[in-house]
Amino acid sequence: MELLATTAALSAIIALRYLLVAAGLYRLLWRRGEPRLRSTRLNTRPPARAAILHELRASLISSPIYAFPAAIALDAFEHGRGLIYADPSRYGLWWLPASALIYLVVQDTYYYWAHRAMHHRWAFAWTHRGHHLSREPTPFASFAFDAVEAAGTAWVLPALTFFVPIQWGVALALLTLMTLAALMNHCGFELWPQSWVRGPVGRWLITATHHSLHHTRFRCNYGLYSRAWDRWMGTDAMPVLAEELAQVQVQPTPLQTA
Ligand SMILES: [Zn+2]
Ligand SMILES: [Zn+2]
Repeated sequence: MELLATTAALSAIIALRYLLVAAGLYRLLWRRGEPRLRSTRLNTRPPARAAILHELRASLISSPIYAFPAAIALDAFEHGRGLIYADPSRYGLWWLPASALIYLVVQDTYYYWAHRAMHHRWAFAWTHRGHHLSREPTPFASFAFDAVEAAGTAWVLPALTFFVPIQWGVALALLTLMTLAALMNHCGFELWPQSWVRGPVGRWLITATHHSLHHTRFRCNYGLYSRAWDRWMGTDAMPVLAEELAQVQVQPTPLQTA
């Protein structure tokens, strides 16, 4: 009963967080900033209302699916089980960034391979199609997952809290980072300066320019935070110029098998 109440509360927090940040960023970029930000805009067309409505629905369905495993981890923390801890000095201060890095690497690796599997022609329609409804995403796509995709990815971080110790503040910071990264990568504008996107940072980290190409081409750029797995596995692609991205959108690469 207690677990259900925690799940309900976390669902509401996750859904509300999504609605506020996605709508806030959408309004800021697409409603107010669009004329000034046009040079950094990645999408060729304005957002489609039907796709946004679908993404809102998918995100609200995903919220309890993400909340349930998170509630199990939180419940374990409250009852002294699991490896979430409160005192930052418990494992030494060095462990705070080290644990964050381990969580990010595990999630990035898991997501790359799960994402590739979901793009297989046998799986795509019932696992991942919902996320790709927008060929040119907006912030509303950042949390829009089919229920199967949500169920397949929501358990990773909560499960890790039973194997790798993590301080609760670090966990919260990671969740914030995930939200911000997902929003920025789907917002339809490149908010990082081109010197970052084209420089050493953008060579290894995923940007909106990189992830937009995944939404238009489908069969490249599967990574979540880092381009490392894409680069190692030969699935990495990056438009040389903004004009190339526009061309790709007009003539998408034919689908290949994963
Ligand atoms: Zn996406
Ligand atoms: Zn995909």
